[in-house]
Amino acid sequence: MNLVLMGLPGAGKGTQAEKIVDKYGIPHISTGDMFRAAIKDETELGLKAKSFMDKGELVPDEVTIGIVRERLSKDDCEKGFLLDGFPRTVPQADALENILAELNKKINFVINIDVDQDILMERLTGRRICKDCGATYHLVFNPPAKVDECDRCGGELYQRADDNEATVKTRLDVNIKQTKPLLDFYEAKGYLRNIDGQQDIDKVFTDLDRLLGGLHE
Ligand code: AMP
Repeated sequence: MNLVLMGLPGAGKGTQAEKIVDKYGIPHISTGDMFRAAIKDETELGLKAKSFMDKGELVPDEVTIGIVRERLSKDDCEKGFLLDGFPRTVPQADALENILAELNKKINFVINIDVDQDILMERLTGRRICKDCGATYHLVFNPPAKVDECDRCGGELYQRADDNEATVKTRLDVNIKQTKPLLDFYEAKGYLRNIDGQQDIDKVFTDLDRLLGGLHE
């Protein structure tokens, strides 16, 4: 089962990725995670990626495509894979088609977890984090007993600087602009499947599971 997972910030991509990987036993391949690991290990790749990531820019295609090619060639991708954070550009999507053709594989589905922008805004701006223990809350979906105090340790709760409304709006706008050409690319190929991400977490997964279950029939 060869999958690409897409969704805007706050759509619940991470949560659903974990559930898919758990149930279907395929590796979760996140280019962001791979770059962060390389930076931590101070590898040559990490050095290359860091300067771009620190500025919030995309790592150049030749670097990114190279690590994905290498990763998809590993034995644990025999049963399939879940790509997350790649492709992010149409040239990357073209490159992925070529890599998969070389490996005699093909994408089954590109899953887009679809959530309206105003709901994403509410999800992202409502997040609060404990200064002391790092516990996360949401003012609407997972509220603490007291609005500015951690239930777990009594620490003070704060809002991350990039969770304010203006910054979230910019993050969403940039992401939508980046993602649209990819969604169009995969729609044209017939790979795209939209999943309603506005339902509760388990229901989103039920829908996903139904889609993926069909691949075994
Ligand atoms: P993420 O964890 O997916 O948000 O990625 C964190 C950062 O890693 C991004 O802001 C980029 O700098 C870099 N990155 C991750 N995936 C890609 C990609 N497919 N192409 C280029 N840069 C990427």
